[in-house]
Amino acid sequence: MPRPSNVFPRVTDRDLPFAARASGASIWDSSGKHYLDGSGGAIVVGVGHGDEQVVEAMARQASSMAYAHGTQFTSESLERYASRVAPLLPLEGARIYPVSGGSEAVETALKIARAYHVAAGRPGKHKVIARLGSYHGNTRGALDASGRAALRRPYSAWLGPAVHVPAVYEYRCPWDTHDSACGARHAEQLDRVIREQGPENVACFIAEPVVGAALGAVAPPPDLWPAVQEVCRAHEVLVIADEVMTGFGRTGRWFGSDHWGLRPDILTAGKGVTSGYWPFGFAAASGAVFDIIAPGGFVHGFTYSHSAVGAAVADAVLTRLLDDDLVEESRRKGERLLALLDDALGDHPRVGDIRGLGLMIGVELVADRSSKRPFPRSERITEQVVAAAKAGGLLVYPSAGGAEAGDGDVIMLGPPFVITDDELAELVELLRRALGSVPGLRNAGSE
Ligand code: PLP
Repeated sequence: MPRPSNVFPRVTDRDLPFAARASGASIWDSSGKHYLDGSGGAIVVGVGHGDEQVVEAMARQASSMAYAHGTQFTSESLERYASRVAPLLPLEGARIYPVSGGSEAVETALKIARAYHVAAGRPGKHKVIARLGSYHGNTRGALDASGRAALRRPYSAWLGPAVHVPAVYEYRCPWDTHDSACGARHAEQLDRVIREQGPENVACFIAEPVVGAALGAVAPPPDLWPAVQEVCRAHEVLVIADEVMTGFGRTGRWFGSDHWGLRPDILTAGKGVTSGYWPFGFAAASGAVFDIIAPGGFVHGFTYSHSAVGAAVADAVLTRLLDDDLVEESRRKGERLLALLDDALGDHPRVGDIRGLGLMIGVELVADRSSKRPFPRSERITEQVVAAAKAGGLLVYPSAGGAEAGDGDVIMLGPPFVITDDELAELVELLRRALGSVPGLRNAGSE
């Protein structure tokens, strides 16, 4: 019997424990059970749980001025934060538009792209091109851009205008030229689709520099982003880098774009920007984009955008990342975690791929390693592993349905950057045990 409650919960198939306390890479529930946070929630928490400096910054700003509307005031905390974060972003002369999370950041980014073209005298440019095997959020515009069938299905009657190009998923690359020419092939494909849609109609191309939950920590071939950027520039199509998951050190660089020298026109941030301490995100436009839109104004806004408290929290998180060299920690610990995983699971007959950048890591589970055949989705392997790990005191994040026909199982790891080396070893051991407790993974002598 589900327990009585007036909450409409995120999940309706199980009762959830009460989260009571958290510190570093640990969460305890109200019964005192300890969980190692191997995924920072939904790959959110970078600076660790229970950071006093962040909490103090939040309280200080909330007690001096908690709320003022974005059309009536700016604030010291927002101006300071924007001036500190702008030089770190891979955009020239960045302007940030703060919102309450990743989906709002994506909605804002799409509207910035459209507003830019209208202001620039190209009113036909309105189409959004995105990729299959992507996730950009759950509001309607962001969901329409997302290439994740299971999330789109119930709302498909409302979706449709966004155009999707194939996923960039090297582990399951169908081309015989793999892996020498994949980036160029994808760029050619994008070029073809833009021409088919009519360059005069296409406003923007949106993609994650490293794909998050849709495929499970999938990095592109190295030649992808430079080639894509060139195609988009040639057609006056703005590039939106969705860095909601990859931003703020998650991949071992400040931004995923930094790995390939990508200079997007617009960037979205969420999750790690406030490490979960405050619902916050932003869309950043390059100065060139902003300068075109600004004279006519930007028709957009949310009651809770431009939050002074959110900016104070983001500022304190930024200080943490800088002072404790946490982006480098993410890089170093990510390499260590990959090595530990390779040692423990590299020969496991059901582990097809172990991959990632920084502390954004995916372990792909397959029914057959040599053919890479996924388990049928109906076996719910991912869900079983996530549940078994949680029972054993480890939190991991699911990424299911990225392979052919909606099958596919990936366990995502994305612990806080403050996780200790001992905790990394514990994480791998707990994951190994969780895999061993799922019947479908135990076959074929995998124990
Ligand atoms: N974009 C990416 C790449 C994401 O990973 C997510 C969330 O997982 C979003 C957008 C949506 O962010 P939010 O859940 O904060 O609305």
